[in-house]
Amino acid sequence: MSDLKDKVVVVTGASRGIGAAAAVELAARGARVVAAARNASACSDVLEQIGNNGGEAFAVSCDVSDYSAVEKMISDTLERFGKIDVLVNNAGIVDPIGMIEDTDPEAWARNISVNLVGVYNGIRAVLGKFYDQGHGTIINISSGAAHNPLEGWSAYCSGKAGVYMMTRATAHEAGEKGVRVFGFAPGVVDTDMQVNIRASGINRVSQLPRENLSAAKDPAQAIAWLCSEAADEFAGQELDIRNPEFREKSGLPALEG
Ligand code: NAP
Repeated sequence: MSDLKDKVVVVTGASRGIGAAAAVELAARGARVVAAARNASACSDVLEQIGNNGGEAFAVSCDVSDYSAVEKMISDTLERFGKIDVLVNNAGIVDPIGMIEDTDPEAWARNISVNLVGVYNGIRAVLGKFYDQGHGTIINISSGAAHNPLEGWSAYCSGKAGVYMMTRATAHEAGEKGVRVFGFAPGVVDTDMQVNIRASGINRVSQLPRENLSAAKDPAQAIAWLCSEAADEFAGQELDIRNPEFREKSGLPALEG
């Protein structure tokens, strides 16, 4: 499939998990991909996979909580590929996991700096460019935790709730200017983040058996579909991978039961 062949897509947190799978899927569909992680060298496997499939990508070091690093990631993208069509704000952390009274205030603030301020930083850095060119797509990776509190996840739930509102606020300001914004909740996915969650033993998500988690290729497919014009009707919304209509339109099989 080469439906994204004219697109340049930046994926944050692309060294592993959902971001890595998304980078590989996007490149397989023809997009030129910028894979970002705190240390670019962590993206070497992803770049190798993309290269082996005949795709084009490069990696950048970018801590999304640092605005100047995010600005540089966007300017590097423009320098190398000449444009940017899509930003996937995927980088995220779950820590600190713990009851509020036990959490370290610095770790709590760090979570918000990465999960929420990081999303703001990405949007802030691309929006002017998107306005100039009259189009652009932003995909913010959200979570069911944005809408339901889970014990031990006060920072994660609060940050993702902020991301949900950031999607709406951005759509409110930018939707009329040709910018498509999506929130996307990927379900419970078999990644390092879930290894960390299982090890904590706190709340019902940590008790889910690994075999019940979905593979990262499923949200990757959905993210790639959101990059295409076919997803226009959902612009401005937060979509959950469990939504049957969304699954069908993005080509994912219906869930059983
Ligand atoms: P993961 O396997 O832990 O990967 C997280 C990615 O984010 C890594 O590439 C990591 O790269 C990067 N990252 C972490 N801190 C960063 C920072 N400050 N700046 C730049 N990159 C950073 O996590 P995942 O499960 O794939 O999660 C991806 C997204 O999906 C997150 O937003 C997460 O909240 C969301 N999500 C996941 C699940 C799930 O079940 N897995 C469910 C709902 C939502 P480096 O460490 O190499 O920098």
